[in-house]
Amino acid sequence: MLSNELKNAYQSMGIGPEVLDFCSEGLQDLEERFKEIDKVAEFNQMKVIKAMQENRLSDIHFAATTGYGYNDMGRETLEKIYADVFKTEDALVRPQLISGTHALNIALSGNLRPGDGILSPVGKPYDTLEGVIGITPSKGSLSEYGITYSQVDLLSDGGFDWEGIKEALKDHIRLVTIQRSKGYLTRPTLSVKRIGELISFIKKLRPDVICMVDNCYGEFVDIVEPTQVGADLCVGSLIKNPGGGLAPIGGYIVGKREYVENAAFRLTAPGLGKEVGATLGVTAPLLQGLFLAPQVVSGALKGAIYAANIYERLGYSVLPNSHEDRFDIIQAVTLNSASAVIAFCKGIQAAAPVDSFVTPEPWAMPGYNCDVIMAAGAFIQGSSIELSADAPIKPPYTVFFQGGLTWHHAKYGIIMSVQKLYEAELLKI
Ligand SMILES: *Cc1c(COP(=O)(O)O)cnc(C)c1O
Repeated sequence: MLSNELKNAYQSMGIGPEVLDFCSEGLQDLEERFKEIDKVAEFNQMKVIKAMQENRLSDIHFAATTGYGYNDMGRETLEKIYADVFKTEDALVRPQLISGTHALNIALSGNLRPGDGILSPVGKPYDTLEGVIGITPSKGSLSEYGITYSQVDLLSDGGFDWEGIKEALKDHIRLVTIQRSKGYLTRPTLSVKRIGELISFIKKLRPDVICMVDNCYGEFVDIVEPTQVGADLCVGSLIKNPGGGLAPIGGYIVGKREYVENAAFRLTAPGLGKEVGATLGVTAPLLQGLFLAPQVVSGALKGAIYAANIYERLGYSVLPNSHEDRFDIIQAVTLNSASAVIAFCKGIQAAAPVDSFVTPEPWAMPGYNCDVIMAAGAFIQGSSIELSADAPIKPPYTVFFQGGLTWHHAKYGIIMSVQKLYEAELLKI
């Protein structure tokens, strides 16, 4: 039951009594799930602290370096900690990796040579990779350097097309890219276990092929990461899960030493590799963010499950549903109309700690074939471990939302989204 103080607090924050009552029901049903999530967070918290202790993290490592950044002890320790958390030989964790897309671009271009082929056995990769690979022609793409791309779609039930994959693993295939998260598609997100099965199958046929996982949105959702089930490389963004909301910029590449080094030679320069790259003072927030990440991810997961529960009860279709296992932090809700999608995003925005007073509007974002609306009131621009939502304004009018640095903020954002739909008379309670 809500205490009167809490009720009054929500009401003073723009939530009406009907919406508050509706959104307070059903929370008991989620308690068991939340306990499981807490256990994963607890395990991952120990994993992160252990890596920090074993690498003798100390405040000397928080010092800023400038210029070339030779002998940056903080950077070297940060990378050793990432390698230990992901159980890999090596890691490249840098503010110079300016986003997840950039990290993926560096991992790919550092490890591929003209004539090599990339295979995606899990369907179309994330939108921004179309430009990187050259699936849609673009200047500087891998395709312009003579690197080819092929793909095998998932079967209609979400399963792997084993025969198709076997067929596609031709001699020139040098790297297999596996995207863990569904991203903004409606395919299922892959569990680490399924990724492991896929990698075993591929390695049996072609032990020499590099298996790379795009791990965006998946870190710390499970107690194991894809690098523990055979992935040679794992890549992600620090303004998503592993940055814990504190990393102001950055990406990571973890995996086999040779492949991480190849990426480093591409990021800096051949012959220089990992030895250079000043950290300019961001090592402390990268480390502190990693320290908080298991807890932050657990809050985001609780928010996603809570949203699934609420919108399910309101009669909307949600993916995943409130009972399914989760393998990333993204929640999709299909709201069936443009006005409902806009109201939802207005609610997420109105609940933000930053820019709560602005109203998101759909606009013709470059790279999309329809208007897109985005809600984000974030401390770090574009950070999607912070509570954020976006939706293309086209049927079936699905909004994708994720994040929340704390469970209570995610909860408030979701309640506010219901409030906005309710006020616009788009739903009845
Ligand atoms: C976010 C994301 C990316 C790209 O990351 P950016 O930091 O936005 O460039 C790539 N793949 C997946 C699955 C993602 O979710």
